[in-house]
Amino acid sequence: MTRYQAVLFDLDGTLVSEVDGVERATDLVAAALRERGHEVDGGALNAARAEVVRSAMADNRGTWPEWLTRVEWMRRTFRQVSAPEDLAPELAAVYLAGRLDGLALIDHAVELVEAVQREAPSMGLITNGDGREQRAKLARVGLDRFFPNPLISAELGTQKPKPAIFEQALAAVGAKAGETVYIGNSYGNDVEGAAGVGMDTVWLDQAGSGSPAGAAVEPTCTASTLREVRAFLGV
Ligand SMILES: [Mg+2]
Repeated sequence: MTRYQAVLFDLDGTLVSEVDGVERATDLVAAALRERGHEVDGGALNAARAEVVRSAMADNRGTWPEWLTRVEWMRRTFRQVSAPEDLAPELAAVYLAGRLDGLALIDHAVELVEAVQREAPSMGLITNGDGREQRAKLARVGLDRFFPNPLISAELGTQKPKPAIFEQALAAVGAKAGETVYIGNSYGNDVEGAAGVGMDTVWLDQAGSGSPAGAAVEPTCTASTLREVRAFLGV
């Protein structure tokens, strides 16, 4: 039995990972453009895609802007390489399929989530990203049955590390911050964000990189595997 009333999870990099997902998906889009008669180099498309994100984030204080949907991202990327923008909706779907193909559960993710579901009064999931894409990821790896109502930034109009999304999660699970733990792999979004509203935090630091220099917040627990997270929670 865990001491926590509520256990909340991040998704990307915490329960699921992607291997070369972005590059692979961009290559699929380049191939689809060529099939439709538009000669586009995969490397050029990849560079344009990265530049669109870099520039949009720079204009939004380093965070992903809410207006940058997958389709809008494709449209702007296609504009950069002189590909037809009206193909953006269709090829955004190709891109998403490519991303999903590169998705995998992180080791021990299902056994951890099953144990938390069994042993903790409530649990939930907070993730930054597009609603359709994050729901598709959960379904792809079979985690949707554990998290039927994920809190997804684009659907809520706020994102980690802002306090509002963590506060909405507390309301959803009916727990106080002081009896809740948040588990995530991003020091800034997850550890600082959740600690900012008074939650305990577990930082999944698979690379063993240690807290960033000058970090204002120490995680309640730093773990390198989800098995260690399970031991910390006592489930
Ligand atoms: Mg993450």
